[in-house]
Amino acid sequence: MRCSVSITILCISAAALCAQAPVPGATLYEGARLITGEGAAPIENSAFLVEGSRFTRVGRKGEVPAPVGAARVDLTGKTVIPALIDGHSHIGYMRNMTSGAQNYTRDNILDHMRRFAYFGVAASQAMGTDFGELPYQIREETMTGKHPNAARFLTAGRGLAPLIEITPDNMRHDALVVTTEAGARANVQELATRKLRFIKTWVDTRGGAIKPLSPELYRAIIDEAHRNNLRVAVHATDPPEAKGLLRAGIDVFAHMISDVDDEMIELFKQHPNTVVLSVLGTPRRPIYIPWINPPHPLIAETVLPEQIARLQRRFHGKDPKEIAKVTEDWEKLKRGVAKLRAAGVKIGLGTDGGGQSGDQFLGWTAHTELEHMVAAGFTPAEALVAATRTTAEIMGLDDLGMVAAGKSADFVVLDANPLDDITNTRKISQVYLRGFRIERARLRTVFMNGAAYR
Ligand SMILES: [Zn+2]
Repeated sequence: MRCSVSITILCISAAALCAQAPVPGATLYEGARLITGEGAAPIENSAFLVEGSRFTRVGRKGEVPAPVGAARVDLTGKTVIPALIDGHSHIGYMRNMTSGAQNYTRDNILDHMRRFAYFGVAASQAMGTDFGELPYQIREETMTGKHPNAARFLTAGRGLAPLIEITPDNMRHDALVVTTEAGARANVQELATRKLRFIKTWVDTRGGAIKPLSPELYRAIIDEAHRNNLRVAVHATDPPEAKGLLRAGIDVFAHMISDVDDEMIELFKQHPNTVVLSVLGTPRRPIYIPWINPPHPLIAETVLPEQIARLQRRFHGKDPKEIAKVTEDWEKLKRGVAKLRAAGVKIGLGTDGGGQSGDQFLGWTAHTELEHMVAAGFTPAEALVAATRTTAEIMGLDDLGMVAAGKSADFVVLDANPLDDITNTRKISQVYLRGFRIERARLRTVFMNGAAYR
């Protein structure tokens, strides 16, 4: 329920009512351990004031004055973090046991954005698999708060891909085909009319099976994007292509690169604005998926039992040879992450949730990704900064990523301290986006029963 003007007036005499519905009045949240996202030590016994949809004051309990009539919410014993941000996802395709363009509807995209909100994710960037007018409409609606129970939907528009990468069922069915430099530039110019921050392309040999987009073509994409004030995010995990892209001035690696050597580090140093999104879950999942058997309660309450069973089957009884290979690749990835971190490369959180490998349970993957980041060498505090402030910076979301005066009041109330154990981000008590308390019980009913959201 949203506060109306009359409820705001009622706040003066009935603060408790406003504690349940804090928009648009003033609410003082007191007593929590507060992790602001700035990377400093948490504020124990904090207080922060939310007025309307924004944080207006942040400090210690007793030091933050509340306006007359402000509601108070006691968060003693809780930990508060900024809402998370997922820099890489594929939204609108998955629906229960199916995945495909037939599911890419207004209702399904909004369902996914509500799942992000449910899991404490304030915004998610769809990476190049959107098509038609719908993404632009829904971006506008979610960015302006039209759907209070939904996270913000960011789009990179239609991706740019070589013909060989485009098939009817790989989420690139409506990508812009890149065959010539002039055509690539024309495609970028078309995307530039869409008020995007990023465009997306793929430069991948798919394990040596295909010829990737040539350097001439990706250079044309990057050059034309920069002329039009766009940044380019690329799927490129193989080192030779990654190095060529660094030389060409790529802005964002949408995945962690599979191996990082000294030459690559030197190239990153020459291109200090190039950033990387983590996406460690996809490569690590075959060897580390402790939350599926038994399913974590957050899984059991948001997806259907047959989806859980399918994922259990997928990772049950893996071939030892495959396990050995994945383990070796994961160790290599970890070393690469350590090298990038030592070189000061900015790494944000990306999950690839909703992508082709399926059953990645949108929203949930932000929490598993945090755990993978810690396994790859981040401290819990560093992983939280990466998943909030850093990803907000990468995505150009100036309003998000921190609990600080002036920022949008997007935060998660946890029952346990994630600095002790990063998996405590899953112990969600409440989620607030724009000062509005997400109706998680209502959403749970929708998710569990496959019911329509009304
Ligand atoms: Zn992806």
